[in-house]
Amino acid sequence: QSLVIAIDGPSASGKGTVAQLVAKCLGFAYLDSGALYRLTALAAKQQGVAWSDEVAVSEVASALDVEFIGERIVLAGADVSLGIRAEEIGSGASQVAALPMVRAALLQRQREFSTMCGLVADGRDMASFVFPAAQLKVFLTASAEVRAERRYKQLIGRGEKADLALITSDLQSRDDRDRQRTVAPLAQAHDAFLLETSNLSVDEAVTQVLSWWRA
Ligand code: C5P
Repeated sequence: QSLVIAIDGPSASGKGTVAQLVAKCLGFAYLDSGALYRLTALAAKQQGVAWSDEVAVSEVASALDVEFIGERIVLAGADVSLGIRAEEIGSGASQVAALPMVRAALLQRQREFSTMCGLVADGRDMASFVFPAAQLKVFLTASAEVRAERRYKQLIGRGEKADLALITSDLQSRDDRDRQRTVAPLAQAHDAFLLETSNLSVDEAVTQVLSWWRA
């Protein structure tokens, strides 16, 4: 059976950064499952499909023509690595992610990332649904204030405009939607370790995950 580390948590908790570093340390592949929901929202928008149209959006998700080339994400031949990170697309992603047919359409694509050399997968339902047999499950979180600050710094670092109050309320509504939806709601799996990172550096969080893995 292939090795999988599942890292779930709310928006801007830092799970992507931690998951990527853990994958690098162990020589594992990395799955950013949120990117698939973001790509679906972006592709739907480009094709004029409303984010609420479940059947049409699930067709967009099934037909996604995407390539992950190192850090770059290419959709139908165009580099969308930055485009999918826009706040509007993040909000669209959480809307399409609440649609059961869309989640079903992306399930197999996510499982295909699991390879013989190991996988670190980050998202909301990696431990509960996509990789229930993962050998290590981590629920990585941080306080709402810390998460808003992390997202703020990320946007500023990319040279984008950012408003802390707006980010805080956007994160809140996205988390509410993720926690309250009927399919695969955001929650800590019963067999997942809780990693509260509000007072941890990235290195400390990575070290904790690696020590659980090696235990
Ligand atoms: O992690 P990220 O913020 O990129 O994910 C974007 C959105 O995709 C989340 O707000 C969430 O609604 C959705 N998502 C999900 N299940 C996953 C990963 C992301 O529902 N496994």
